[in-house]
Amino acid sequence: MTKTLLKKPPMGRELKGKVIADQIKGELQKELARFTAPPQLRVLYFGTATSRLYWHAQHTVAKELLIGTGRSSHAADAWRDGSFECPPDWTPEKVEQIIECWNRDPDVHGIFVHQPLPQQLDAQRISAIIDPRKDVEGIHPQNSARRFFAKARIGSCTALAVMELIESTGEPLEGKEAVVVGHSEIVGRPVSMLLLDKLATTTICHIGTDKAQRLEDHVRRADILVVAIGRPQYIKGAWIKAGAMVIDVGINVVNGRVVGDVEFEAAKQRAKYITPVPGGVGPVTVMIVMKNTVEAFKLQTSAS
Ligand code: NAP
Repeated sequence: MTKTLLKKPPMGRELKGKVIADQIKGELQKELARFTAPPQLRVLYFGTATSRLYWHAQHTVAKELLIGTGRSSHAADAWRDGSFECPPDWTPEKVEQIIECWNRDPDVHGIFVHQPLPQQLDAQRISAIIDPRKDVEGIHPQNSARRFFAKARIGSCTALAVMELIESTGEPLEGKEAVVVGHSEIVGRPVSMLLLDKLATTTICHIGTDKAQRLEDHVRRADILVVAIGRPQYIKGAWIKAGAMVIDVGINVVNGRVVGDVEFEAAKQRAKYITPVPGGVGPVTVMIVMKNTVEAFKLQTSAS
């Protein structure tokens, strides 16, 4: 057997989120330097392991960019003045009171409510009461409708992060088989729309696909695979089409370790490009939240 035949197939190139996040950060810093006051972002989250991780990342990046996240998170009225970890048993009325207070405050430019929410809270209702000009996650019905017509000024942050990673490869998307696993309102659906805008032939898989035992079939034919289901390593490496691009959105904490929805090591052997978890989609999403905060600030002030 010749040496060439013995050569291992090339492993997937890791798409590091930090590289893209740093590029966006550089652009934002130039823009922020022109503003007379820093934009103010307010974040409401519940104390799950993933939401604490996400909040910590948002707070760190906001601080680096000098975007405000609140004056005091320890004061008795922290919910009014700062980003806030909500007790998990808070009533819908209490949560809505905070959001409405931030909606009315002209010094607050961006509002972000972490999902998943505790059972007593209705995610659709919460998304709909955020002032659409302050909706930096891009999930208010008005912003979602604008996305439908490819006209969103504040886009869905996770979906935009996924597209940044895909487009960073320079691979043409037109006519490619794109498979999105997960159809949530904050990730799966908006990503599918953006892939459609690029003329990728887009399939959306969900729990029904899995119940019908068709998930593996769809994943196997994906040139571009985006997975956002929140199930640790559920997508098997052996299902990945050779040469595919794999974007793993999932964040799962298993025994204190963060893992994605895709079996990373096995998938890397088959993919051309793959995002690691952590360090793939996450850092880009956080930076897009900051970009959306800057956009929201411009929408609400004379800065442009
Ligand atoms: P979600 O609201 O729970 O939605 C999960 C989706 O996956 C649902 O559409 C669900 O379908 C589908 N699903 C669940 N099990 C499935 C299966 N076995 N086969 C096929 N589809 C299945 O979650 P999400 O907010 O979209 O987030 C998904 C993951 O991404 C989570 O791990 C989250 O932490 C992570 N995330 C990461 C970032 C980032 O920046 N990296 C940002 C946001 C979210 P049904 O509704 O039909 O059950």
